Amino acid sequence: MGQELEVTERTRLRRLREKGSHRRSDLDAVLGAGFLCHLGVVVDGAPMVVPTVYGVDGDRLYLHGSVASRSLVQAPGAVVCVSVTYVDGLVLARSVFEHGVNYRSAMIYGVPRLVTDPAEKLSGLRALTEQSTPGQWAYVRQPSRKELAATALLALDLAEASVKVASGPPDDGAGPDAELGVWAGVLPMVTWFGAPVADPLLPAGIEPPAHIAERAGTAVFGEVPAEERGEGQGEGQGE
Ligand SMILES: Cc1cc2nc3c(=O)[nH]c(=O)nc-3n(C[C@H](O)[C@H](O)[C@H](O)COP(=O)(O)OP(=O)(O)OC[C@H]3O[C@@H](n4cnc5c(N)ncnc54)[C@H](O)[C@@H]3O)c2cc1C
Repeated sequence: MGQELEVTERTRLRRLREKGSHRRSDLDAVLGAGFLCHLGVVVDGAPMVVPTVYGVDGDRLYLHGSVASRSLVQAPGAVVCVSVTYVDGLVLARSVFEHGVNYRSAMIYGVPRLVTDPAEKLSGLRALTEQSTPGQWAYVRQPSRKELAATALLALDLAEASVKVASGPPDDGAGPDAELGVWAGVLPMVTWFGAPVADPLLPAGIEPPAHIAERAGTAVFGEVPAEERGEGQGEGQGE
């Protein structure tokens, strides 16, 4: 999808905007690589930034939790900001100033909607489950009516969003600090899935299904971008 999202006063990139994008395909790539986000929401007059899982279904991002969750209950009706971040490497420069982080990140703004339609609630929860573990929704028991009633589901349109990607080596390789003779480069960071660990209460003979077992040894948040192998530039001043 080459679609450009409308740039609003909120999503207009100001600093280092060459690392930014409002392309929907770039947003999809960041959201598709993971399942964890931070929900920034004002609760009782103060900001609250809540780590939580998400799911994407078409043009919507879904968040869920207990109906007693203050962040979820108070979110509808006001603008929230959801951010998704992956750290791909530490950029170790010749000077402290040029140190940074290589990353992929997205920020999504909008007024979330509490999902009450039973069909959308099920499909949203399915998207959430499948986001982290594709194949799991159909493998395990579906939620009961009581469980559904205890779960709040929020839908946020993917209409107002931005993406930022930093990659590549430090910026000071061609500057005066190159003479210092200190090592500089990138220390890549990758999170891997380990081998499945069975519940100690699991009866013998129940093996993990392929959609779980086959993930062992694979990168959790997508492969390290090609740029990490030396193309492009890192972002200075701690970024
Ligand atoms: C892992 C990580 C570590 C970082 N560390 C630092 C740090 O130590 N110091 C630092 O100054 N910056 C850091 N950054 C970059 C930081 O996220 C901001 O992009 C930058 O600080 C500009 O912030 P600002 O308040 O000037 O935002 P503005 O440029 O005013 O933001 C305007 C709009 O641009 C978009 N935007 C801004 N930043 C991002 C982003 N990261 N992802 C997606 N959209 C974005 C949003 O829509 C935002 O509303 C880091 C980013 C990541 C992902």
